[in-house]
Amino acid sequence: MSTPTNDAVVASNFIRNIIDEDARTGKWQGRVETRFPPEPNGYLHVGHAKSIHVNFGLARDYGGVCHLRFDDTNPEKESTEYVDSIIDAVQWLGFSWEKDGNAHLYYASDYFEKLYGFACLLIERGHAYVDSQSADEMRAARGSLTEPGKPSPFRDRTPAENLDLFARMRAGEFADGEHVLRAKIDMASPNINMRDPVIYRIRHAHHHRTGDAWCVYPMYDFTHCVSDALENITHSLCTLEFEDHRPLYDWFLDRLAEAGQFARPLPQQIEFARLKLTYAITSKRKLIQLVQEGHVDAWDDPRLPTIIGLRRRGYTPSAIQLFCDRIGVSKADSWIDMSTLEQALRDDLDPVAPRAIAVLDPLKLIVENFPEDGREPCSAPVHPHHPERGQRDFVFTRELWIERDDFTETPPKGYFRLFPGNKVRLRYGFVIECIGADKDADGNVVAVRCRYFPDSKSGTEGANTYKVKGNIHWVSATDAVAAEVRLYDRLFAEPQPDAGGRDFLQALNPNAKRTVRAFVEPSAGALAAEARVQFERHGYFVADRRDSAPGRPVFNRAVSLKDSWGK
Ligand code: ATP
Ligand code: MG
Repeated sequence: MSTPTNDAVVASNFIRNIIDEDARTGKWQGRVETRFPPEPNGYLHVGHAKSIHVNFGLARDYGGVCHLRFDDTNPEKESTEYVDSIIDAVQWLGFSWEKDGNAHLYYASDYFEKLYGFACLLIERGHAYVDSQSADEMRAARGSLTEPGKPSPFRDRTPAENLDLFARMRAGEFADGEHVLRAKIDMASPNINMRDPVIYRIRHAHHHRTGDAWCVYPMYDFTHCVSDALENITHSLCTLEFEDHRPLYDWFLDRLAEAGQFARPLPQQIEFARLKLTYAITSKRKLIQLVQEGHVDAWDDPRLPTIIGLRRRGYTPSAIQLFCDRIGVSKADSWIDMSTLEQALRDDLDPVAPRAIAVLDPLKLIVENFPEDGREPCSAPVHPHHPERGQRDFVFTRELWIERDDFTETPPKGYFRLFPGNKVRLRYGFVIECIGADKDADGNVVAVRCRYFPDSKSGTEGANTYKVKGNIHWVSATDAVAAEVRLYDRLFAEPQPDAGGRDFLQALNPNAKRTVRAFVEPSAGALAAEARVQFERHGYFVADRRDSAPGRPVFNRAVSLKDSWGK
């Protein structure tokens, strides 16, 4: 199932080809500086993880540095809670923005004064003007894909008049929306982004870092390229929807370079395809809706594709790295199947996760010919391929827990597990023969009865003279640890829950979380929070980081052993 090799990954990463070519021509004198620029208006998700791997991964591979820059120019939607969560997420994924003792951690809001100065410079040089049309008027004058826009009646204000108005906008003399500052480019451009885009708007809003110092805020297209240039970014990597904005990115930097503000070469914007993952949502706005409306429990709900959700689900940073390597980086938009993410987790955990037994749907098994207080030590390898990791010990007792569906009174054809008269092996224990079952007044089976064969213990001489077809899991009812187990599945029942603007809430999978009372063997009961384990037959699980404690474990199912979806 494991697909690509490293060669395939490198070949598919067209950005590496650009960097290699730049190295060949000496464009950047060997420098590679990238940046990851989240807006702190939500928690990061698996799509951001791709961007983080692209940006930080390239910087690491080329001996460069990747900046973490908060693109915090929309005061209403941003907060320090989000800033902190983003810092945590990037660190957890294993990346650092430090190089040679310098922390390359930046905030676009730290550039507000500089950005304001550059805007004034654009005004002075005739490249920007204050427009006093209403938002509706501006929209109406913008034209369409087939029609050019109409120049604003304010387009020919003099630089002096514009500078004065812009200073008064900053000073707070006007209400939100009364004026904007626009770049003076080309109202007839076939690229609508070039039709005098807005570069500043008035917002009387409190900013989480600059407080009330500002009431004019720069727009993304202006802020982003300038921040890149200020930080000497070489390759500014972003997603494809910014392709049409690239001429604007270059336009601002060219005008400021002409004005002597930036030296060439100027940072180069390069676009790559967004990650779209099936059975998931990767829009911050919709994730916020899922959390705020209570469709999930919190930002770190293990059903969410947020990075903290994935973490709590049991994903490891290396599984996410593996996933990003496998999907590669390209210019072509496509959907990645959720099973690719899940398989990366299995492939990451299989070689390392210790094994243990958990009985998720417990049914009592009474071994009638075993002494009441008898204790027979048994053991099993911690990991089947790593004998050096030793054995896990547990005991065989008269009362055990087995899985409810490992017993039936009326076996269908081909059923090799427990039914009256049949023999099975209790894995790592003894061969037993079923002799009947106890029932309650309603006829429900409440316990199964059996006899064991004392000379059949696994690993002892002659044990394999017993030929049985069934091999079932068990834990000792006296020694097993009671555990809460949360069985997670995909949050959405449809592969593209929000395709075509559909109401994605309609596609929620009502069975994405099921909680059961289980019993686990003592080695698993003692696991520390966030330890991962393979429960034989059931899948990979993690001790919940919030709710689990040794002796009082809570497990989340990270992923089943096999991909059973849609089959
Ligand atoms: P959303 O639309 O969910 O709010 P965004 O693009 O507005 O996402 P930002 O905080 O601006 O979120 O994103 C920071 C960086 O992560 C940007 O460079 C953006 O292109 C990138 N990014 C966001 N979503 C994805 C995705 N699904 N795949 C790859 N990169 C992404
Ligand atoms: Mg964005």
